[in-house]
Amino acid sequence: MTQITATVDFAAPGKQVGWLRTPHSVTRSAYGVVLVPIAVFNNGDGPGILLTAGNHGDEYEGQVVLTRLIQRLQAADIRGRLIVIPSLNTPAAIAGTRTSPLDDGNLNRAFPGDPNGGPTWKIADYVHNHLTPMVDVVCDFHGGGGSLAYRPHASTHFSPDCSPRLKERSLAAVKALGLRHVMIFETASGGGALSTSTRAHGKIYLNGEYGGMGAVTREGVALVDGAVQRLLAFFGATEARFDPLPPPQVLRVFGPRAYVYAPEAGVFVQATRLGDTVAEGDLCGELLFPESPGREPVRLYYQAAGDVVCQRHPARAERGDCLAHLAQAVA
Ligand SMILES: [Zn+2]
Repeated sequence: MTQITATVDFAAPGKQVGWLRTPHSVTRSAYGVVLVPIAVFNNGDGPGILLTAGNHGDEYEGQVVLTRLIQRLQAADIRGRLIVIPSLNTPAAIAGTRTSPLDDGNLNRAFPGDPNGGPTWKIADYVHNHLTPMVDVVCDFHGGGGSLAYRPHASTHFSPDCSPRLKERSLAAVKALGLRHVMIFETASGGGALSTSTRAHGKIYLNGEYGGMGAVTREGVALVDGAVQRLLAFFGATEARFDPLPPPQVLRVFGPRAYVYAPEAGVFVQATRLGDTVAEGDLCGELLFPESPGREPVRLYYQAAGDVVCQRHPARAERGDCLAHLAQAVA
């Protein structure tokens, strides 16, 4: 049973902007709550859509676009029900960190959540048990975070045993978002991610990484803004029409061999750029040791062929840090 109370009425017609009051009782505030912002737009029959950003607090394109959307959109502009949350793990978003400073929670590893857990787990439980059941599609905007840089892509996630209809609709939706690259994740579980939760409900789940490095760029914001407008039109929430685009390239992340990790600490110099196509055995980069300049660099190689879609952003790496990962084009 959730302890979160919403200041919005999800059934009321019109536009409401309010909060999800998430209890967090601490010394400085015995009856304190974390205020998670939420907007609800209801306008008669139509699709149910949940848009979220700030699941990871240091990923900004979605936070910017959904904040602007709440300010400019009126209920009359859409059909159906639209729920918008621009900073889902609000304490992490305020701190500018991936995880919450209140409970160390990584929201996208906390699903399906716990109504009696820390704020991160309470939020996950509320999304899983209260918000997702109200909608047909969940779209969560990510952006790499401070440790990674991504070639922008939209993605969809579904289970191998989901209905052909859900799979077909998910693929059609992700290809309609206006990105040049789309990524497909067809796995039984997303390891506690919002995708896992949405899959369990049999709903359409869309995601994507629209940038990274803890930064926000005009290009990333434009991509997310376009994706939101196209998503609303694709599902019939608006009547907007767009010029057709060339079909996107479809890729998949294919398992452990797609990833390169640091075996020890050092300064990592990438040998490739985002978007490069590499073969198995190509050089990924060199780990250097400026504190021990006589020591030879450690060369790290790609273990598979594919496109470089993600690279570590900070130069210094610790043992176990992901330095780059690949995805492969789907034939
Ligand atoms: Zn993220």
